[in-house]
Amino acid sequence: MTDVSREAVYQPPSELAEKYKGGIQRHTAVTPHPSASVPGSTRIKLVESFYIRPRWLFVRIETEGGVVGWGEGTLEGHTEAVQGSLKDISRRIVGWDAMNIEDIYTYLYRHRFYRGGEVLMSAISGIDIALWDIKGKVLGVPVWQLLGGAVRERCEVYGWIGGDRPSDVLEQAKVRKAQGFTKVKMNATESIGWLDSPHALDETVKRLAEVKSIGLDAGLDFHGRVHKAMAKQLAQQLEPHRPLFIEEPLLPGHVNELKDLYNKTTIPIALGERLFTRLDVRPYFEAGCIDIIQPDIAHAGGISETKKIAIMAEAYDIGVAPHCPLGPLAFAASLQVGFSTPNFVICEMSWKMHYNVGGFDLFTYMTNPDVFAVKNGHIDLLTAPGLGIELNEDLIRKEAAEAAKLEPWQNPIFRGPDGSVREW
Ligand SMILES: [Mg+2]
Repeated sequence: MTDVSREAVYQPPSELAEKYKGGIQRHTAVTPHPSASVPGSTRIKLVESFYIRPRWLFVRIETEGGVVGWGEGTLEGHTEAVQGSLKDISRRIVGWDAMNIEDIYTYLYRHRFYRGGEVLMSAISGIDIALWDIKGKVLGVPVWQLLGGAVRERCEVYGWIGGDRPSDVLEQAKVRKAQGFTKVKMNATESIGWLDSPHALDETVKRLAEVKSIGLDAGLDFHGRVHKAMAKQLAQQLEPHRPLFIEEPLLPGHVNELKDLYNKTTIPIALGERLFTRLDVRPYFEAGCIDIIQPDIAHAGGISETKKIAIMAEAYDIGVAPHCPLGPLAFAASLQVGFSTPNFVICEMSWKMHYNVGGFDLFTYMTNPDVFAVKNGHIDLLTAPGLGIELNEDLIRKEAAEAAKLEPWQNPIFRGPDGSVREW
């Protein structure tokens, strides 16, 4: 007679079972932040924003008790629009208790009648992230601790290769591998016509094969620039080479068309950097047309909304891969969600990305960049209170004064051979 009870017991690999028999451990003791013991009001005294190169918009909130929280509301190419929204928000929430994050978020989102969209949501995101930083510092715990605790010891990350117009990806892939990454992402194509020559896709397939030949996995970002007629051909040609995922294979908004593509390919489909709040992601979840949701924490509604999107995604068996070609605050906030979210899969990391030029990079404004060390493709649990990173405020203020004299970052213009504008 078969021993049913014994067969029914799942045996995980013995090494992992032994390692995690006590659950996820923090390993590093959390150091209470000095501000945790500071008596004083947590009422908001001051809200400031700083546009700094390469293209980031930081938010700084200070409480009456002297606790400072930092957030990021970078909206690439629309800096002044978000600054205007932040100016409006700032005068409304001074005097409010910074600890009541949900109330402040609800007021900013719901009470103002007009809501959603990339500009208003990026401003709210910057505020929300700074408030979570403050709350963690006041209570002396990392943000992940406030989001339910750690479900993993480290978050997987990927770096970029290829830039806006991909070429020489093999050399760049080798560099990424040497830096400790095991997964990368690259643009699938350069600018491409609504109906282009099928040969326009040849290089894309070749590049993926090259990158995979050195043992890396690669996601391909269609960037919403590949229209339906070309996207279905490209997905089919990429399929034998097994990309990690294809991102924005069609522009957001085309839910039905995305569903058709989804049914034609086994490649995981990722999308979400241009969706804001749970309401925007809902039709994609309900249509069953994506496998991976990619909320950008600096646009989607900050830590509060990204966590809610992640929880909602889990109900549809959708993984979460935060989009983050941005600064250290957006990255730290994304990781805080990742550490506490079971269906987190991987996070984008902008270190040495093609947008970070002029000597400005992910670590430029940080005084503790070691916390973002990439080890075997992962970043270890952040253990300091709040977001877990420390910034050089003097440098930020100095750079903001310089950057104010310049035009904020803009994306390049793509035009076809006939002179017409193409998707960037
Ligand atoms: Mg993208």
